[in-house]
Amino acid sequence: MTSISFHPTYWLQNAASLAMSALLARIDLNQAARPYFWIDIRQSPPQASHSYWDGVDIAGRFVDGLILARQMTGRCDGAEAEAQLRDYLWAQQDPQDGLFYNWEDEAHAGGEMSKYLPDAGVLTRPRHVDLFCQRGPLIALCTLLAAGDSRALPRWNQLIQGLWRLVERTGPEELCLPTYRWAPLLKPEWTMGANVPEKWLGYRYALLTGLARGVELVGDPATTELALGLARWYMRHGDVPSDGRYAANTHSGGILPTAVGIARLGIHTGNAEMIAWAQRVYEWTRTNTPDFGFLRDGLGLDGFFSSTCETCGLADLVHLALALTQAGVADYWDDIERIARNQLLENQYRDAPMLRQLYPGIDESVLAMMHGGFECAAFPNRLLAYRGIEACCIGGGLRALYHAWRGAISETGDTTMINLGFSRSTANVEVIGHEPWQGRLDVRLRTPRRLTIRVPTHAALAATLFTVDGQPITPSWSGRTAHLGLLAAGQIVTLTYPLQERGANYEIAGKSYTGWWRGATLLEIQPPGEGYPIYQRHHMIEETGPNASIPSWSDATPVPTTSLWGD
Ligand SMILES: [Zn+2]
Repeated sequence: MTSISFHPTYWLQNAASLAMSALLARIDLNQAARPYFWIDIRQSPPQASHSYWDGVDIAGRFVDGLILARQMTGRCDGAEAEAQLRDYLWAQQDPQDGLFYNWEDEAHAGGEMSKYLPDAGVLTRPRHVDLFCQRGPLIALCTLLAAGDSRALPRWNQLIQGLWRLVERTGPEELCLPTYRWAPLLKPEWTMGANVPEKWLGYRYALLTGLARGVELVGDPATTELALGLARWYMRHGDVPSDGRYAANTHSGGILPTAVGIARLGIHTGNAEMIAWAQRVYEWTRTNTPDFGFLRDGLGLDGFFSSTCETCGLADLVHLALALTQAGVADYWDDIERIARNQLLENQYRDAPMLRQLYPGIDESVLAMMHGGFECAAFPNRLLAYRGIEACCIGGGLRALYHAWRGAISETGDTTMINLGFSRSTANVEVIGHEPWQGRLDVRLRTPRRLTIRVPTHAALAATLFTVDGQPITPSWSGRTAHLGLLAAGQIVTLTYPLQERGANYEIAGKSYTGWWRGATLLEIQPPGEGYPIYQRHHMIEETGPNASIPSWSDATPVPTTSLWGD
């Protein structure tokens, strides 16, 4: 690890490194690398347990998340555990039909079957295919394929063939998933139940996140026709009305994972109807989400999860915003930056001393699983108000971090575009973002490049100042993007702008909050939460300001290869 990983402004990489440690800690090497989905914090001290979601959903998310974390941080440790984790995931794939099966009724399954249906075990068969859970292996296989692992391809093809056996044709180009679970002997409640998750159609179609990426990577007729057919059915008959104004569970109910898939399919195939559908979902979600990224899981619904934010949903929202922005459909860069700097980073349990204080006597192995993990049910001013901690959000947190990190810089031909004010290196540039300490961005060129920098909306364009090697220059502008022309290797570009401070009032789930912004960072929320309060970041400015103002260039910074989920 190089010193750059510990520079205070390397937020995304630091967060990814912490999350990767939590992920590795949550792999149970005594049970063939089975992950722990659940940590029960009602028990004293908190206890980790195995559950229904471990085998397919979490193992899939973990295989994916670990690869993304390595790309961001350059970390190479945990290789043996990673190999075992992959073997564990592949062991869930049936060699005959290619589908990934969930088992029930094991000795440990009583820990936490489902947060939606605590006694789901009584409805299940000994072994079944859970459609929502197929999403984990699908995204893991996509990430492996994009990373150049050709062994993933036969598994992909088998899974696609397996999924074809579960769909019904409802029109010439339309396919539906008639049940949310499948086994050779179907249960009626899997088709038409009145409870969750069987009544959530998006639960079945969330796998479109992976299918759509697979269309881009594999592009065979079997994958493409399946993905497009399912997307068409969901757009016409799913949970989202034609105006996009849905009321549903954003991640767990599958709305956003499905919308991500439909957006990517529309962009890849040039289907304007699909793009417009996905944009309506994004706009409605964004309209109902405070600007610091507090995305409600139960958006527009009643009950506990209508007032809480799950990190997995943030991953979907950032992914959707990025896909639409990079395709030129709209400019959601400010949304992405605000979500990443604020709710995403604040959803992470970074404070180990506070965890120890909250849970006296906690076992070190359980603490290691928590520390660096992400919240599944945050309130605007606190974490750890739910019954426990879910492992899905480690995978979700890493995905969200990865999408923000990869989106921060785009490179095509001889041009590097700096889109977000996060620190990140590529083979061509090193970038250090200084918010919230200063309104400043430094770019050192490693190779000759044309450079553009997008200035965030909170900075007044008239007050921006650009220098190259200390000499003021005047860029040309298109919108908020400054074009700096062709620069030589070794040159340093610095952008400075006044950092605006402002207060803001929020009404969230019937409660009033006051926030204090500095640039794109929400430093503080009042009143402070109990337990594990968040948005208590005012002190950070004073504590680390002097260090943060000194760019620490390092040629030893690990530079990752090409993006695994698109440019
Ligand atoms: Zn989650």
